[in-house]
Amino acid sequence: MKTGARKVFVSATAAAAILLPGSAVFAQGDDRAAERARMVQELVSGGGGGSRQSTAPPPSVGGGPDASLGVPMASVRAVDDHQRIQNPRVLDAMRKVPRHLFVAPDMQREAYVNRPLPIGFGQTISQPFIVGMMTELLNPKPGEKILEIGTGSGYQAAILTEFTPDVYTIEIVQPLHQQARGRLQKFGLGPDRVIAGDGYFGLEKAGPFDGIIVTAAADHIPPPLIQQLKPGGRMIIPVGPVHATQRLVVVEKDASGKVRSRSVHPVRFVPLTGGPRDGAEKK
Ligand code: SAH
Repeated sequence: MKTGARKVFVSATAAAAILLPGSAVFAQGDDRAAERARMVQELVSGGGGGSRQSTAPPPSVGGGPDASLGVPMASVRAVDDHQRIQNPRVLDAMRKVPRHLFVAPDMQREAYVNRPLPIGFGQTISQPFIVGMMTELLNPKPGEKILEIGTGSGYQAAILTEFTPDVYTIEIVQPLHQQARGRLQKFGLGPDRVIAGDGYFGLEKAGPFDGIIVTAAADHIPPPLIQQLKPGGRMIIPVGPVHATQRLVVVEKDASGKVRSRSVHPVRFVPLTGGPRDGAEKK
């Protein structure tokens, strides 16, 4: 018993010591900034898949195969080239937004470990690496209009507000929506931006969008989302079987309206619910 107690004491002291260096660089009174800086450092040096692949090649641009829509993604050749986060604006955003404020108090201790965390109702806040990768792929520019499907905790939406104020986010689970609505107000997203509803159908009244980011997995790309993409716009969406490994897919609509998609990275997401079938079943 005594030994156990001493161990706890020693590790608490060590943790306090680790927190001190570097924290002065960040906002005063923010006690977790040093942890965020460390988390971001991990993303830079290779946070994908839990393997420390510091020698992984940099993400290739446009190097993936095209997958015609409707083709099962499992048949699309994989391009596992996204092992590190490199965009400095993405890294800055992740250094700034306090992830611990997007999880329940008993989860906050683990908020800066590179892993997903439960947020209730069977849902999760994505792993920081995945948030970074999806944001990097979406590459939101100042002034662009972005739609997120699957507000969840609100963390990804908060990250997006670091790039553009014109962000909309939709959540289908009412209590999660309510909670995120409160949190996101501090990030400039009013109630007209944080919406309760079925994101399968997008948000036609606010569209079209420069970017759409879907944070739940579907077995196909919802056609309304493709319709609501502007020419020149892009969508990031996990596609594949539910409760299994899916592929993160980048969908791009060119200036003439032609749509192409490429598969970028293996991921595991909670399922996108709702959609036309669900609506019919509920009736
Ligand atoms: N972006 C979130 C991750 C949430 S997990 C974050 O940063 O925390 C995926 C979320 O998608 C869950 O909250 C789930 O309820 C929601 N979701 C699933 N299907 C949906 C749908 N059809 N429309 C809107 N939200 C949906």
